[in-house]
Amino acid sequence: MSGREVLEAYRGRPIYSLIEKGYYRPWDPLRVSHIRGWDIHVKSGSWQVEGVLRMLFHVLDPEVAKDPANLIVYGGTGRAARGWEAFEAIVETLMEMSEDETLVVQSGKPVAVFKTRREAPRVVISNAVLVPKWADWEVFWDLERKGLTMFGQMTAGCWSYIGTQGILQGTYETFAFAAEQHFPEGSLEGRLVLTAGLGEMGGAQPLAVKMNGGVALVVEVDRRMIERRIRHGYLDTWTDSLDKALDMALTAKERREPISIGLLGNAAEVYNEILRQGVIPDVVTDQTPAHDPLSYVPLGLSVEEAEKLRVEDPERYKRMALESMREHVKAMVEFKRRGSVVFEYGNNIRKMAYEAGYRDAFEFPGFVQAYIRPMFEEGRGPFRYSSLTGNPKDIYRLDDEIIATFKDNRRLVRWVEKARQHVKFQGLPARVVWLGYGERARFGKIMNSLIRLGEIGPMWIGRDHLDSGSVASPYRETEGMLDGSDAIGDWPVLNALLNASAGATWVCFHHGGGVGIGYSLHAGFGLVLDGTKESEERAERVLTVDPGLGVVRHADAGYEKSKNIVCEKGIKTPMIKC
Ligand code: NAD
Repeated sequence: MSGREVLEAYRGRPIYSLIEKGYYRPWDPLRVSHIRGWDIHVKSGSWQVEGVLRMLFHVLDPEVAKDPANLIVYGGTGRAARGWEAFEAIVETLMEMSEDETLVVQSGKPVAVFKTRREAPRVVISNAVLVPKWADWEVFWDLERKGLTMFGQMTAGCWSYIGTQGILQGTYETFAFAAEQHFPEGSLEGRLVLTAGLGEMGGAQPLAVKMNGGVALVVEVDRRMIERRIRHGYLDTWTDSLDKALDMALTAKERREPISIGLLGNAAEVYNEILRQGVIPDVVTDQTPAHDPLSYVPLGLSVEEAEKLRVEDPERYKRMALESMREHVKAMVEFKRRGSVVFEYGNNIRKMAYEAGYRDAFEFPGFVQAYIRPMFEEGRGPFRYSSLTGNPKDIYRLDDEIIATFKDNRRLVRWVEKARQHVKFQGLPARVVWLGYGERARFGKIMNSLIRLGEIGPMWIGRDHLDSGSVASPYRETEGMLDGSDAIGDWPVLNALLNASAGATWVCFHHGGGVGIGYSLHAGFGLVLDGTKESEERAERVLTVDPGLGVVRHADAGYEKSKNIVCEKGIKTPMIKC
């Protein structure tokens, strides 16, 4: 069918108005563009519903999503909706529903709309959840093939992904913490960081290292991903020659010049080759999609060969991927033994290598245990917001507000200044700042009053599922908890229930994000601020209970800092005597 014929087929349907405005193009593989401006497209006339619609369109914009033609946003196969039919049904339901109804989404497919009440969430979402005994990739893929489920990663299926920036601050902070902990100068100046993977999350690494003053050498198997990162300003230069890359990296290290270098190659091979050449980087990590053996590209295969084998013989593909991960992790352990600071960056590669027979795979720690836990103890985590009207000025106005409000938090101020300078917006302009308990509610209220005063337009607030009280992931966020509660899955369930009770605009509960099916449970939310009194109250409640549960989760596990916050801030917990 020609574009015109497709257009005619949609005439009379609610989504037609979005097609007319060019936000949705069913004839184009890159179908979706983010929606800007003040026109409301939903019948209810409510920003609470329009905001959901806009974030769904935003995550699928080609500027934001990794593979928008297949509704894949990031992280291997993290999707926003089960398929295009489901996407259209979600969109049209949002356009037609009223402000006291709730849309129910089961793994990317809209299944019902119920009358609830205005203060309730407009959408509730569950993604990829399987009964524990069945919770592995084999069962998941089988059910996915039958069209019964969808992998939502952490924020893809929760319509809360803001492009690589979302992970940039976390990555920046992680490298900053590592530098403070391991190097006397407290920065990465004159240090070489070796890592891999320039995907949606991993693509933040080169810029984060550079922002910390270091030299980043990043191995990536897919040339298109390298070019994409250069285009987005996250990577400076690239080569397909290891000798050239090492020469550039070691010269820059010597001169203490921050630079990021992409190297086209397979990490399992390149890491071992660097070892053989006797080069020992100061820091080694990795962000290949090891959580999913069908996404990780095995040794010896080009990207095209991998794509073919993945379809023709997935069993052989997985075997090869696991064997490659074993070699990859062996090299990382060897780097550690020879003096590098080594950590896993949340992709479960140690477990995969262990499964493939490498018993020493857990010789290096995960990044949360090593560097992020102290922030989680304070309920501090990745607080995100975006301008729903698509106005970058609103974000810059809020940058000023953050700097003024939290001027004593030097790390945060430094981040906002650097982000303003380096971050290119993808889709709706957005910002991420790590705020703690008390700070999030305070800033949410400031934001709402600026909207009421007409200084900025309506905003979306959300966060990564990687947060203080919203995730159970024993090889990542909850690795090595003080009381051994790593695998306790109640907390993310409670988080979702609590955020729904507090009146988030939408609430999501997911399985398998970050580390893969069987290894994590996590929850997230979206909150639309429109300047009204009602949205101020929602913000106060949601932005208090959400990080509050994180503080309680850590206090319950015995972390002293969290217990002190519970007592100082008067969080009511029957189990702690202040
Ligand atoms: P992605 O799928 O968008 O990108 C992965 C990249 O790795 C791709 O560009 C791919 O070409 C490349 N790659 C695959 N195999 C390779 C190999 N053998 N050698 C070199 N490059 C290879 O994934 P992403 O969103 O960037 O996430 C990467 C990993 O990090 C995932 O496992 C994800 O679950 C995990 N993750 C980390 C965090 C975090 O906080 N750090 C958060 C979420 C997810």
